[in-house]
Amino acid sequence: MIPQYDLEKIKYGIDRATWEKAIVLYKNGKVKNFCDTGFTFTADVQGTHLYEVIVSPKSYSDGNCTCYLGENDTLCKHIIAVAIYALKKGKPLTAEEKTQHNEIKFSGKIGNISQDQFNLSKAEISGAIRYIKAYTGPSRIWFAYQDSLSEGRNRLASIFSSLPAGRQTANLIIKTLLRLDRKLITGGVDDSDGTVGGFIEEAVTLLIEFAKANPECIKEFEAVKNKETCFGWEDPLLKRL
Ligand SMILES: [Zn+2]
Repeated sequence: MIPQYDLEKIKYGIDRATWEKAIVLYKNGKVKNFCDTGFTFTADVQGTHLYEVIVSPKSYSDGNCTCYLGENDTLCKHIIAVAIYALKKGKPLTAEEKTQHNEIKFSGKIGNISQDQFNLSKAEISGAIRYIKAYTGPSRIWFAYQDSLSEGRNRLASIFSSLPAGRQTANLIIKTLLRLDRKLITGGVDDSDGTVGGFIEEAVTLLIEFAKANPECIKEFEAVKNKETCFGWEDPLLKRL
C-alpha cells in the first residue's frame, strides 16, 4: 500500500524531539520485520525493549505502540519511525528529507522572487491558512484541532523561511499576518494555547530582520498603520517607520 501521507506531512505535524528521535531509530535500522498487511503497516521497533507497532496507511498519527507512551495514547517516536519506513522502505533519507522547517528563520537572501515563485508562495500560504480554521467542535476533539493549528503554523513557518528580504515578500508576509489577525478576531479560531499569536510575533521578528538586511522593506510596514490588531503585534513595525 502507498501511505496517504508523506514526509512533509509528518514533519509539519510533530515536534522536533519526536522527529529527530524517530530519524535516529530509522537510520540505525531499529525498525525490523516491517510488513504491509494490506490493511496496516506493522513492525517491531528496537528501543529499550522491542516494541510492536501498527500504523494506518491513512494517517501516520493513527497507530499503536506497546511502549509506555503508545499505551497512553501518545504519538511516540516508534510509530513515526515505522511511518517513515512505510514511505522510504529502508532507503536512506537525504539531508533535506531529515530537516524539519517548523521554526521561522531568515533565509539570508535579499531581493525579489520571480512572479511564478511569488504565485506559488501565495498558493502555499492559502493552503497553510486552511489548517487554521474556526473551532466549532466538542471539547473531546480539541487536541486534534490544536494539531491542525500547529500544522498550519509550521507550514507557514517553512514558507516564510524560504523567502528573501524584499518589498514584495515583506508585503506578502504582512498581508498573511493581517489575514491571521482577522481569523483570531472574527474568524472563530480558538488560539487559547497561543499557537497562532506566538507565530505572528515570530513573523514580526523576521520582518525586523528583513528590514535590517534590506531597508527597502520598511516601506511596506505602512500597511499596518492605523490597524487595530488583536494584541498590538504591529508596534515593533511601526517603530521602524
Ligand atoms: Zn512507542
